[in-house]
Amino acid sequence: MHRITVIGGGFAGLTAAISAAEAGAKVTVYEAHHTLGGRARTDEGPYRTNEGPHALYNGGPHWAWLKRRDLIGPLAPLPPLEAARLRLRHHGVLRRTPPFALLKLLRRGARQAPVDTDFLSWATERAGEEAARAAAHYVAVALFHHDPGALSAAFVQERLRRATRLPPEAHYPRGGWASVIDRMAGRAWNLGVRIETVARVHTLPTDTPVVVATSLAAARRLLGDDSLTWPSGRTALIDLAVRTRRGDVFAVSDLDAPGWLERFTAQDRTLAPAGEQLIQGQIPIAPHESRADGVARAEQLLDLGFAGWRERVTWRRESVADGRTGAVDLPGTTWRDRPAVDRGDGVYLAGDQVAAPGVLSEVSFTSALTAVSLALGQHGRNPLDLKHA
Ligand SMILES: Cc1cc2nc3c(=O)[nH]c(=O)nc-3n(C[C@H](O)[C@H](O)[C@H](O)COP(=O)(O)OP(=O)(O)OC[C@H]3O[C@@H](n4cnc5c(N)ncnc54)[C@H](O)[C@@H]3O)c2cc1C
Repeated sequence: MHRITVIGGGFAGLTAAISAAEAGAKVTVYEAHHTLGGRARTDEGPYRTNEGPHALYNGGPHWAWLKRRDLIGPLAPLPPLEAARLRLRHHGVLRRTPPFALLKLLRRGARQAPVDTDFLSWATERAGEEAARAAAHYVAVALFHHDPGALSAAFVQERLRRATRLPPEAHYPRGGWASVIDRMAGRAWNLGVRIETVARVHTLPTDTPVVVATSLAAARRLLGDDSLTWPSGRTALIDLAVRTRRGDVFAVSDLDAPGWLERFTAQDRTLAPAGEQLIQGQIPIAPHESRADGVARAEQLLDLGFAGWRERVTWRRESVADGRTGAVDLPGTTWRDRPAVDRGDGVYLAGDQVAAPGVLSEVSFTSALTAVSLALGQHGRNPLDLKHA
């Protein structure tokens, strides 16, 4: 029987553990924290926040895989009346519809967008600079980057298409992402996976193949390999609870600068106590900008979409997510150029900044399946063909 060690019990580590155990391997997972989930944790307590605004996109490969195993659990559907309360800030005011020229861009597939050119230049040629900038800012919802227009056109266009698809790809597990993590942990447990928490690994084991399913920064330290780097986003996070008031928007997307605010209780009442609404926002910030700069921009969006919010606040928290929001690809690069999954000597990387396709956590998912198929010697196989996948 194959034995595999998985370091990290987040979305990637649990995906690796389940797929390896399903293929018949004896799996041990080591997780440094006292709970599983990593960046997909949901806070306990009266306000059930994910680490920043999180949505599970149903267009990715992880969706079908999780669904087939009944690991997604109940969803919190967005009522149509709430969906109609999505607003876009453009030229300082809120509007319901995107600028017409922006729609022109949506007709272009990601394959029509070049890898070597930045999104802003490519999109400006097709729809004019104003629409190009608005589109770049809109797609910050899935990029968490302060200058999406400077990234590879192919990379941004893929995300723009997915973030504007109708019906929307964004879905919300009821109770937050922790409910998916709990189900994944249960599945791993039932398959006989040994899970040790409060178990930080400092040295790579050499007696089994190892899947290092940590952030890329943690993998860099663990493997002592300074080449393990890739650009990511830096974004100010704001979590807010306010007393309920009719007329609040569902979400505000900033088309004047990158930024997104979403009232998560619009779709899931279980996230805050009765009579309160939970809002989570992320405002990407440039290297020279501070958390306070991002929060100030978030407050402008709050002023527009949530009348009297300052007097209604019951709870508030702010932070910065730096390098925690997955890979972004600069012009001239694709996911294939990121740090390879196979590190040699039976060590494999899984995570959202390594060489695997997909959007955000889908990269963690796909790289985890790739890592396991390589570790089990199923070289050359499509990881999604793994037994039971
Ligand atoms: C603000 C924000 C918003 C996001 N929004 C979305 C979204 O809307 N949709 C989406 O799909 N994705 C989103 N993501 C991305 C998603 O959260 C991540 O891609 C995913 O959770 C990463 O999972 P992972 O398992 O690769 O890494 P992690 O979640 O970082 O897991 C790694 C685990 O390894 C553990 N670990 C580290 N070092 C060691 C060690 N030495 N020994 C043992 N354990 C160790 C850590 O404690 C951690 O639990 C968002 C992320 C952020 C920060």
